[in-house]
Amino acid sequence: MGRSAATSMDAFWKEELRALKSLDLFRSLRVLNSRDGTRCVIGGRELVNFCSNDYLGLSCHPRVKEAAIEAIRAWGVGSGASRLVSGNLALYEELERKISAFKETEAALVFATGYGANLGTISALYRDRTLIFSDELNHASIVDACRLTRARVVIYPHCDMGFLESKLREIGPKEQAIIVTDGVFSMEGDLCPLPQLVRLSREFGALLVIDDAHATGVIGPNGKGSFDYWDIEDPGAVQIGTFSKAIGTMGGFVAGEKALMDYLINKARPLIYSTALPAPVLAATIASLNIIQEDSQRRHRLLRLGTMLRDGLIALGFSLPVLPTPIFPLVIGESKDARALSEHLFERGIFVPAIRPPSVPEGKSRIRISLSTLHTEEQIGHLLEAIREFSRFGAD
Ligand SMILES: *Cc1c(COP(=O)(O)O)cnc(C)c1O
Repeated sequence: MGRSAATSMDAFWKEELRALKSLDLFRSLRVLNSRDGTRCVIGGRELVNFCSNDYLGLSCHPRVKEAAIEAIRAWGVGSGASRLVSGNLALYEELERKISAFKETEAALVFATGYGANLGTISALYRDRTLIFSDELNHASIVDACRLTRARVVIYPHCDMGFLESKLREIGPKEQAIIVTDGVFSMEGDLCPLPQLVRLSREFGALLVIDDAHATGVIGPNGKGSFDYWDIEDPGAVQIGTFSKAIGTMGGFVAGEKALMDYLINKARPLIYSTALPAPVLAATIASLNIIQEDSQRRHRLLRLGTMLRDGLIALGFSLPVLPTPIFPLVIGESKDARALSEHLFERGIFVPAIRPPSVPEGKSRIRISLSTLHTEEQIGHLLEAIREFSRFGAD
C-alpha cells in the first residue's frame, strides 16, 4: 500500500515538473562559486551581479565582516535555542535599541527572517471581527500571513486608494481594519502612497502595517525608510523590515509600540518556535546599521547611479517612472522572452535572472535589475550596451 502511494506521488511531482518545463516556468538553483561586492563567479565565469538586494554593498564591508568574526570568537556560531529559551543573547537588546532609534519607534523586535516577521506579526494581529486590507502586489510573506490569519482578507488593486476607501466605508462599527502594504514594492520598485494610507488609517481607525524591506537603509533623507521619505510621523503604525537587503546581513524586525512587542513575544509563532539568530549575524547587523547612519555617501551614490541607469534605459525605449529606489523592472511579457534576454546578458558577463510567474503576474515576466552603490559607471554602461544589443530592442 505505502509503496504504491509513494509511487503515485513520484509520478505526480514528475508530471508537475514536466508541466512547469512545458510552460517555461521551471526554476532551478544556480551555484555561485564566489561573490564579493558586485562580482560573482558562476560555472567558472566571472559576472557582474545586477540582481542582488545588497544595495549598499554592506554584506562584504570590512567592518561588518570584522564584527561577525569577533562575535564568533566571543559567542560561538549557533545561538543554541529560541529567544524564549536560552537564545536571547545580549546583542539582541543592543540591536533592538538601535532599530527602534533608527525607526523612531518606542520599541522593536528582531525575528530570524523578514519572512518570519511578516508571518508572525500579521497572523498574530487577529481579534474578533478583524478585516485585513492587503495590496495585490504585496510580498509573498504578507500573502502567506494573510492565508494563515483567521481575519477576513480583502485584496485591493495595486495602490488604488479610491478602492481601498470605498471598502473601508463598508466596514461595520464593531469591525477592526488593518491595512497592510509594502513600503517599496519588491518587483516594481514603486512606493506605496503613504500619506493617503496614513490619512485613511486615521479616518477609519485602521492599524497600518508597512513592510519596509526594500526601503530601510535606502529611501528618505536619512535612509530610514518610507516614513522618513514622506516626512510623516505615525506613532501608531507597525513597521516591518529585513536586515537581508540594504543592511546586508540576515534577519527581520518589527518596530512599533512596546506593548505590541510584548504581545508578539507571546503570540508570534515564528519567533517562539524557531531558533534565535546567531551572534555573528546580530553583531554584523549592528555594525552595518552604524555605517548606514554615519555614511550617507553610499546612499547618494546609489541614487546617482540609479539616475544614470534610468536615463539609459529610457533612451533604449523602456518606460520607467522616476523613483528613488534601486529596483528597475524591465517588463518583457512572455516568460521565454524574459529568459532569452537574461541568457543574452549572461553571455555578456551580466547576471540578471528572469523573474517569471508566480513571482509576478502572468504575461508580466521581467528582468529585475537591482543596483548596488558599488557598481561602477563602466559596469552600468556595459549593461546598457548589452540590453541594446538584444535584438528585440535594436540592432542584432
Ligand atoms: C525580501 C522581503 C521579505 C523577506 O525578508 P527576508 O529577510 O529575506 O525573509 C519580506 N518582505 C519584502 C517586501 C521583501 O522584499
